[in-house]
Amino acid sequence: MVVSPVQPTPSAPSPSPVSGANSASLIDFSSLTHPLACIDIGGTKVAVSMADRHGIRGRVSEPTCKQGSNDALARQIIRLVGQSCASVGLAVEDISAVGVSSCGPFVLRDGCVELAAPNICGGLAGPARCLPNTWITAVLEAPLRAVFPHVRVENDGIGALEAERRWGALQINGQPIANCAYLTWSTGIGVGLCVDGHILRGKNGNAGHAGHLFVSDNNDALCGCGNVGDVEGLVAGNAIARRFSAAGYADAAALLEAAKSGEKKALAHVDELCRVMGRTLYNLVVTLDLQRISIGGSVYWHHREFLLPRLQAHISGKFAALTDGFELVSAGLGDKVGDYAALALVT
Ligand SMILES: [Zn+2]
Repeated sequence: MVVSPVQPTPSAPSPSPVSGANSASLIDFSSLTHPLACIDIGGTKVAVSMADRHGIRGRVSEPTCKQGSNDALARQIIRLVGQSCASVGLAVEDISAVGVSSCGPFVLRDGCVELAAPNICGGLAGPARCLPNTWITAVLEAPLRAVFPHVRVENDGIGALEAERRWGALQINGQPIANCAYLTWSTGIGVGLCVDGHILRGKNGNAGHAGHLFVSDNNDALCGCGNVGDVEGLVAGNAIARRFSAAGYADAAALLEAAKSGEKKALAHVDELCRVMGRTLYNLVVTLDLQRISIGGSVYWHHREFLLPRLQAHISGKFAALTDGFELVSAGLGDKVGDYAALALVT
């Protein structure tokens, strides 16, 4: 039996992306009597900002620390929280909660999250991945709990999903969508999933690591997790740089700019990347019967008008009983998703 999806119909207009500034007006910051620390940990950079009754402010960002002992990243974050506070005249002691939206996967040690993130921990894939450490994990939650009163760490896909459902593109008439997902296409690939109104977390909070789905035997696609031929190893920002730099495209931006200018070789590469990503999105839709997926992340966001129709083409019209009524949209929170993801975890 085919169950008709809930509105909107395929002809309904896509939700218009909301800028970070506009979204801020949707949040009642006046109720924040004590500051909250919002921490976004990615494979390339970390960002820290404060949320208080004046809004989100004091943003500081640095390249993700990957050298030294495996508590270096936690120490970097604690230092950045101090800098962020100082920049807006807040006292670290006044922080009431810390939301951490981080790339994963996570492993739990004594109930505290450590990162086993392929783009941070060099011990996972070995020297071929060229990361400057041999970490199997980066400790995170335990050092933060030693300093701050209330800490919540979640996979960045889950944090972004919560933010998009509350303030971004994963809502209809102000109500969060029950069956939806958020996907980030950035240094790595991350996904947050919501089915029947429940955000999926899994046994270690790692539900949604669809970037490590095997999709190819292509042996030039070594993922930081050690797999060869998974989605992230083929299309993530770090993979694009490693796979195509010898062909003259130093990074994802160089390849995408060349494709947009009509360079045939670059266009063929981008079409192949979109085939992998588009099929991954299709697989999520048909597996979970989703109504909408919003996409963000640096690789996608800077080229979204070029990429969105190319991704949609791998979903629209394929097995209509499962894909009719589904919408693929750009993140409503735009390039602010990371900041709001952390905020969503502690408000
Ligand atoms: Zn992988």
